[in-house]
Amino acid sequence: MEKARTSEQREFQEYARRWLAENRPPPPERPLPSSPIEIMTEAHRDYLQDWQARVHEAGLVGADYPVEYGGGGHTGFQRIANQEMARAGTPMLINIVGLNMAAPTILVHGTEEQKKRFIPGCLSGQEIWCQGFSEPGAGSDMANQQTMAVRDGDNWVVNGHKVWTSLGHFAQWMILIARTSRHHKYDGLTYFLMPIEGNAGVTVRPLVKITGESGFNEVLFEDAVVPDACRLDEVGKGWTVAMTTLTHERGAAESAGGGGNAAHPIDRLVDLARNSWRDGQRASLDPVTRDAIVQQAIVAEGLKQNARRARVPALCDHPMRLPLQQKVTSTEFAQQVARLGVDIAGARSTLYKLDPAAPDAGHWPLAYMNSYGVTIAAGTSEIQRNILGERVLGLPKSK
Ligand SMILES: Cc1cc2nc3c(=O)[nH]c(=O)nc-3n(C[C@H](O)[C@H](O)[C@H](O)COP(=O)(O)OP(=O)(O)OC[C@H]3O[C@@H](n4cnc5c(N)ncnc54)[C@H](O)[C@@H]3O)c2cc1C
Repeated sequence: MEKARTSEQREFQEYARRWLAENRPPPPERPLPSSPIEIMTEAHRDYLQDWQARVHEAGLVGADYPVEYGGGGHTGFQRIANQEMARAGTPMLINIVGLNMAAPTILVHGTEEQKKRFIPGCLSGQEIWCQGFSEPGAGSDMANQQTMAVRDGDNWVVNGHKVWTSLGHFAQWMILIARTSRHHKYDGLTYFLMPIEGNAGVTVRPLVKITGESGFNEVLFEDAVVPDACRLDEVGKGWTVAMTTLTHERGAAESAGGGGNAAHPIDRLVDLARNSWRDGQRASLDPVTRDAIVQQAIVAEGLKQNARRARVPALCDHPMRLPLQQKVTSTEFAQQVARLGVDIAGARSTLYKLDPAAPDAGHWPLAYMNSYGVTIAAGTSEIQRNILGERVLGLPKSK
């Protein structure tokens, strides 16, 4: 049975709905990108950082975190806040790595001092975080880390090269996995909370994507120093700590905050079809287009209903089943929706953002190109399917 909401949770939902309706910020001067990892300008960063500070202050971010770490001290409130932010279509929360990866990992593995020092800034968005897991030779094979951290008194000295570091150009901190022993693959890894901004040995270089955006970066460490006080958990426990991060990154647990800045993708497709032409009539009257949209609407509804299973304990037999299913299906859904949008816009989808004649302000070609990133980020669809097959369904290991 799905757990019914308590009266406090219902009251909180009403409060969240009212607060969001009354406090929605005016749109920024130039439209926001489609996700936090495409933020390039300081104006967008400041706008979104200010918004996150306000929703945190209002108790809609970090609602389930303990009060002493900057949270609201509640249970089951964050899911409600996330739903209300998504429903209201309020701006996205910029500190996605801080909220969804750093804070939950520090909560599990951090010392009391680390929790008090770092979690409040993750929740309020005052300190932006990035993730330093991937390297040129360590993506799907994450344990193949070559970045080395060597102990030097109360510090560690780090040398190496990270890639695809989303938000690295704005981050003050990085969650970093580095190798502290070459003799053990998994047990030779250690997890650090690495200061990025103003750290003399750290260079952040933007990587420009096919879309022209540079939301992610490469980060080079040349004798960069991190204090031992910023080591998370024991030396050699980095793999275990990273698994906690990945569980949250792939959505296994309720994240600290949510929010989106876009209309529902199906509504957006319908609007586009109403304003596009096919065979001399509006595309919304074309049976093939209508059928294609309905097929995606069915998937959207399926995803929504599938997510509700998380609230029914008897349906959550394996902790990774639902999050991995949702990760694979929702990212592939985003790709199919973007592809359909490009099809419906037809030749006009060659008009790019900021072209005044581009339908939907150039959203569709941008969403289409970016949609390939989401089936790769946080582990590729192939890797998620392997994990689902082997660990959730118990199938024999692939070669
Ligand atoms: C938009 C975006 C944002 C990102 N942000 C960050 C970030 O902030 N921080 C960070 O650390 N990383 C980030 N990444 C990196 C991401 O985690 C890696 O790209 C991902 O894990 C894949 O690694 P790779 O690119 O090295 O590909 P590879 O691991 O080299 O894989 C190449 C291809 O081989 C397939 N493959 C590999 N191994 C197997 C296998 N065992 N079975 C079947 N198929 C396999 C993969 O599915 C893929 O198709 C980001 C990536 C993207 C696209």
